[in-house]
Amino acid sequence: MNRTTISAGLAALALSNVVLSAPALAADDPRIAALKAEAASGVEARAKQAQVINDMVFSFGELAFQEVETSKYLTGVLEKAGFTVARGVAGMPTAWTAKWTYGSGGPVIALGSDIDCIPKASQKPGVPTRDPIVAGAPGHGEGHNSGQALNIVAALALKDLMIKHKIPGTLVLWPGVAEELVAGKAYMVRDKVFEGVDATIFTHVADNLSVSYGQPDGTGNVSVRYRFHGSSAHSAGKPWVGRSALDAVELMNVGWNFRREHLRPEQRSHYVITDGGDQPNVVPSEASVWYFFREQSFDAIAANFAIGNKMAEAAAMMTDTTVEHDIIGTAAPQYFNKPMAEAAAANMAIVGLPVWDEADQALARAVQASIKSDKQDGLATRMTGLTAPKERPLSGGSDDIGDISWTMPTITIRYPSNIPGLPGHNWANAIAMATPIAHKGIVAGAKVEAMTLVDLLTRPELLAAAKAFFKDVQTKDQQYQPVLRAGDKPQIAINADKMAEFRPAMAKFYYDPAKYGTYLEQLGIKWPSVPVTK
Ligand SMILES: [Zn+2]
Repeated sequence: MNRTTISAGLAALALSNVVLSAPALAADDPRIAALKAEAASGVEARAKQAQVINDMVFSFGELAFQEVETSKYLTGVLEKAGFTVARGVAGMPTAWTAKWTYGSGGPVIALGSDIDCIPKASQKPGVPTRDPIVAGAPGHGEGHNSGQALNIVAALALKDLMIKHKIPGTLVLWPGVAEELVAGKAYMVRDKVFEGVDATIFTHVADNLSVSYGQPDGTGNVSVRYRFHGSSAHSAGKPWVGRSALDAVELMNVGWNFRREHLRPEQRSHYVITDGGDQPNVVPSEASVWYFFREQSFDAIAANFAIGNKMAEAAAMMTDTTVEHDIIGTAAPQYFNKPMAEAAAANMAIVGLPVWDEADQALARAVQASIKSDKQDGLATRMTGLTAPKERPLSGGSDDIGDISWTMPTITIRYPSNIPGLPGHNWANAIAMATPIAHKGIVAGAKVEAMTLVDLLTRPELLAAAKAFFKDVQTKDQQYQPVLRAGDKPQIAINADKMAEFRPAMAKFYYDPAKYGTYLEQLGIKWPSVPVTK
């Protein structure tokens, strides 16, 4: 802590109650506590708005790169609130930034959260058994409908506060486009969307209130599609003339599946065949397979990607076909900032978990019973809070917030809008996401975010410590290794056909907040949605 800065700041404050031109308050200063209380009540006052935004995005249920209605709606809300919106950033039509500045010379803080959903996860909220709104349609089976609601109400609460107390600073909101393909954020980083931003607070749905620093559990990832080219022939008449691209896909997969045994157990890799040919009587001249190569360090990801490329070349050689690949996305292993995480955790201790009522708990337990979860005790009642880095983080999923976390001080605030013990990327994970469980979790998360923004905007020593940790600890021995090359382009055509197929049916169920208090009400689902025992 720099005493000179702080006492100079306090002297400036004493001189002028009117202009906080260089606010510099200590963490334990009662004025900080007062500002945080005001920020939290600013969030509380916007609980209704958070519910409307959350339920609206839930009803859009848009897949990666097709978040058209979602982005149109969110940027509309932000524009109306006085933010300056830039649309179509980093070559992605559904990506945007929304900026608002008070005064000059203040810190620039970015607030991000994902917006895309999961294939085939359409599900009526509040209903604990499989019951899609539109059969076969995508849905928010990850809960990405909630994070922007959180960020927006936190930002609007801060905007009022910054004006009232003359606190200079800039807030930059942005969406995680195509996070499910880890295919958006690295492009935003490469195309310098975050230039001039001092720090990022990212928010992600979870079943508890938590934040971590250092490397968390999970992996980084390269998401890559191999396209094989052969030549067609009559499959029965002259098969010896044909060269099957599908054979190459299958041989690559066989090769990779044998190789798995000789990779580190922490790796995770999976594939889907996105093009297996047209019909059996035509030797497939084109075939494609899409891989995720996940590992825990930049070097290990690069090594497994290189093995994948070798397998593809070998399969092409075996089949007299050719192969090329497209990088669809990439996620660096995540690494989070300690001073920022500690500040957020202190605010979590003040905010605490939401107060769940019996209707919330009854639904949670009904969902856990319905899917035979190994957890059967309802919603979280003990807060996780701060998680220190583990010596050996567990393997698991990836998030392309990793790429941002290697370019500036970054944390992820995880907030309790979902039910513990669910499979993830599944219809069951959508059930809570337009119910009071989600709404309460968003308000708790938004309060933590708003209070952490107060910290970052009024305590220059915190931002300085965050930057020092980034420079002297995080990137001391290890630097960001971007995977994207200059010519790689966001694969924005992905999912266009799927959304075109389902959007007309889904549009009939878009939320209409002018007519209905909640989306549950619009769908005719009574709350409590399951019998409450107590
Ligand atoms: Zn996610």
